[in-house]
Amino acid sequence: MSKRTADFIIIGGGLYGCATAYHLARLGAGRVLVLERGAICSGGTARSCAIIRTHYSVTSNLLHAVESLKIFSHFDEIVGGDVGFRRTGYLIVGPEEHREPMLRVFRTQNEHGIDTAILSPEEAREVHPLLSFHDVGVIGYDTMTGYADPHLTVQAYARRARELGARILTDTPVTGLSLAGAVKQVQTPAGDFESPTVILAAGPWTNQILAGTGIRLPYVVSRHKVITLKTQRPYDPHWPTVKDLTTPDKIYFRPETGGVVLVGTGDHGEPVEDPDVMQDPVDLAHVERISGLISNRMPAFAEAEYTSGWTGPYDITPDWNPLLGPVPGYEGLHVMVGFSGHGFKLAPTISEAMAQMLVGERPRLPIDMYCVDRFQQGRALHGAYGIGSIS
Ligand SMILES: Cc1cc2nc3c(=O)[nH]c(=O)nc-3n(C[C@H](O)[C@H](O)[C@H](O)COP(=O)(O)OP(=O)(O)OC[C@H]3O[C@@H](n4cnc5c(N)ncnc54)[C@H](O)[C@@H]3O)c2cc1C
Repeated sequence: MSKRTADFIIIGGGLYGCATAYHLARLGAGRVLVLERGAICSGGTARSCAIIRTHYSVTSNLLHAVESLKIFSHFDEIVGGDVGFRRTGYLIVGPEEHREPMLRVFRTQNEHGIDTAILSPEEAREVHPLLSFHDVGVIGYDTMTGYADPHLTVQAYARRARELGARILTDTPVTGLSLAGAVKQVQTPAGDFESPTVILAAGPWTNQILAGTGIRLPYVVSRHKVITLKTQRPYDPHWPTVKDLTTPDKIYFRPETGGVVLVGTGDHGEPVEDPDVMQDPVDLAHVERISGLISNRMPAFAEAEYTSGWTGPYDITPDWNPLLGPVPGYEGLHVMVGFSGHGFKLAPTISEAMAQMLVGERPRLPIDMYCVDRFQQGRALHGAYGIGSIS
């Protein structure tokens, strides 16, 4: 059998490509081939803050997040490997109008074993003494949120996929697709590869790869910036991750190695045509703006020092939820794209469900609500907190 043919070709060796390859190989799906243009984990996942929370107002997201959290928490036993999972807990603060949606989310979280509570400012300061709540209407808390290391996570899935027989070719950019007929041709500078089933997991680059096919998936790419800040006193690694819904940028922050706090945004970011934003610098205007929001929430950060920053791409769909499964009208072509800045935490079970669907099994957790044509069907998945990656 030619090394240029496979039962499944996955385009993109980021988190979703490698995790889905692992599950396909685990399920005995035959010859699984991943084509990655650069190194494993060189796309958006490499820039991820990798926060793993279960607070979601879209119930299907919450269910995937809860089950994925269990996998992240016991990754070595379930998949194999250390992904650097750290449990921090999660404080979510918002205006008073978020109290009702927050309580609804808490009820669903509780039904699925997640410990949650509404806290008074005094109670919240017991878990995070630097926080000020002068402009906050409601404070929610759960004890189980954490974060992992994105590189370790992708490398673990890739290593396990290879151990189970999948092939992952790096430095192999896909330059075009030919979708006519039962066998699809996948073009690369190293020659064509072919398969009856092609899975596009190229994150924000997916529409570029589809350019010659007449297909354009409904997502836009935006530039997102992450910064780290420090004060004289090291930021305690046990303090919870915080989501601040009172800020227009919907900032979030969590402890990071080296006694610093890492701060990202859950807003739309700056729209860009080219997803290759990874080398773009973080401008000082952004640092100053975010520092102002942080010192409002943590007055001890009024004189904080900016220590590092980086940029990464979000692939944002109209309802901030992913596009998963077959592309209507193109049998054998599947996508997993549009994770809208919150796909890290969902990857363990979404990749599992995708692989189960591809081999004809019923997914353990459904993914059909994320179908590519849901917008035409009037089935968008809008969350309770307005637009943003909290959905
Ligand atoms: C700054 C930032 C912070 C984030 N923080 C969080 C968070 O805290 N929690 C959370 O849950 N999510 C977060 N996310 C989102 C999450 O990281 C992503 O949704 C997830 O990692 C996407 O994985 P992916 O595999 O779809 O994409 P990617 O990691 O982008 O993988 C796509 C791969 O395709 C490859 N590729 C591109 N073009 C080609 C080609 N022509 N041929 C072959 N290969 C190609 C790329 O090199 C890349 O390796 C964040 C994202 C960013 C950018």
